[in-house]
Amino acid sequence: MATMGFLLLLVMIFCTAPVFAGTDPVRISLDGVEVQCDSPPVIAEGRTLVSARAVFEAMGGDVSWDAAAREIAVNIGDRNVKLKIDSKKAYINGTEKALDVPARIIKNRTMIPVRFVSEAVGCEVSWDQKNRIVNILSPSNEEETALTVIRSIELSRKGDSVIVDADGEIADFTSFVMKNPSRLVFEIKNAKLNGKDGTIQTGDNPYMKAIRYSQYTKDSVRIVADLTEHSSGTVSRSDSMRTAYLTFEVREPDLPGENEQDVSVSEEDQAVLDQYGLSAVAAGARQKLVVIDPGHGGADTGSRGYENGTAVLNEKDVNLDVALRLQKMLKAAGAELYMIRTEDVTIPLYDRQDTANELGASLYLSIHNNSYINSTPSGTEVHYHGKHDPPMNGISAMELAQNLQRTLVSNLGLQNRGAKVSPELAVVRRTVMPAVIIEGAFLSNPDDLKYIKTDDFREKYAMSAAKCIIEALNASI
Ligand SMILES: [Zn+2]
Repeated sequence: MATMGFLLLLVMIFCTAPVFAGTDPVRISLDGVEVQCDSPPVIAEGRTLVSARAVFEAMGGDVSWDAAAREIAVNIGDRNVKLKIDSKKAYINGTEKALDVPARIIKNRTMIPVRFVSEAVGCEVSWDQKNRIVNILSPSNEEETALTVIRSIELSRKGDSVIVDADGEIADFTSFVMKNPSRLVFEIKNAKLNGKDGTIQTGDNPYMKAIRYSQYTKDSVRIVADLTEHSSGTVSRSDSMRTAYLTFEVREPDLPGENEQDVSVSEEDQAVLDQYGLSAVAAGARQKLVVIDPGHGGADTGSRGYENGTAVLNEKDVNLDVALRLQKMLKAAGAELYMIRTEDVTIPLYDRQDTANELGASLYLSIHNNSYINSTPSGTEVHYHGKHDPPMNGISAMELAQNLQRTLVSNLGLQNRGAKVSPELAVVRRTVMPAVIIEGAFLSNPDDLKYIKTDDFREKYAMSAAKCIIEALNASI
């Protein structure tokens, strides 16, 4: 608790102390969302220096600190930017570049030149002098074009097609079928819904169970038909291209009993469940896809644990190990799973979230461990986005995050740093479905690090996550 008090005090001082008397503090906006301050940006020799973590972790990157070399590395996608404290030399993917103003340590935080690093990782940066805001646009944020308005989505009278009516051409679209559960996805690009997201219940329709539609991204609309077991669908458009039709047919007759789901658990799976005190996923929740994201990987090591100045552990390896244990447990419980990675590979920026969105996952769980510039902080924290309350897919990110926090703290026995609303983090910002990030313990804290290295820690981390996911799935139906 002493640590918490100490940290809180530091944060309060940083956030309230004006940088220069008489001027408003500089703020940072990332894709239109203000990045929350843990220490305010400072202006040095006409350049804005920002807390490396606050800004570049919000961007989905990873920031690591090498205490021995006094070097800070920012990894985003395939870009690696290395800065040495108080040095005007920087390295972008190993190539030397000159800086006007070096990275500095100010009040115990590494502060780095925001424009230089943002541009090095492919962002656009502009300065709003009037409001004193540094505007950063991440590479995926394209300019807005006029959007076609989807005016109505209706089931035809015969019930064998869905009619989509727009105020302009439905020019750019994709459609594909996904399994488990079987569904036809029709995605219209450069489009926006006339009203809110919704669902059309289709009753005992032989082709589909329901039609769901949503503003999938800010400029695309998704219509998903949940198919019955033997139905399939095709997409066509009117000559004017202002109307699209999703037409369904039943491929083969249902055989009696084929729709019944087997929920029996094999002896082998039951043994795994018993070992960890887990229950099986209920039949009705087995179709809900859970995406497990072991943080970092490949060139992106994540944070690193040091003993006597030597790196002894990479976060990416612990995260993967925990995730693989979790995979084994959730499989035994009968959950539908997708693993972002099962090996030590580099995943391009935003690929993780795009994949989960593409798959139409119901839940996203990101496995991480923490680090800090000094060795003081320790313990467990969980992050989530507040946008999924009321729940989506029957799952509340907040409830799951709070349950995870409670369960992890009780099983791991580490300091309780709380379940936190962190809308700026890329993982929860870019995922459509409820998403939660676990930060198990601190690689930068010697006691935490010792524990992280053990099987006991990894087993309890995975077991706690499995338990909470199974509970969330079972509560969602
Ligand atoms: Zn991490």
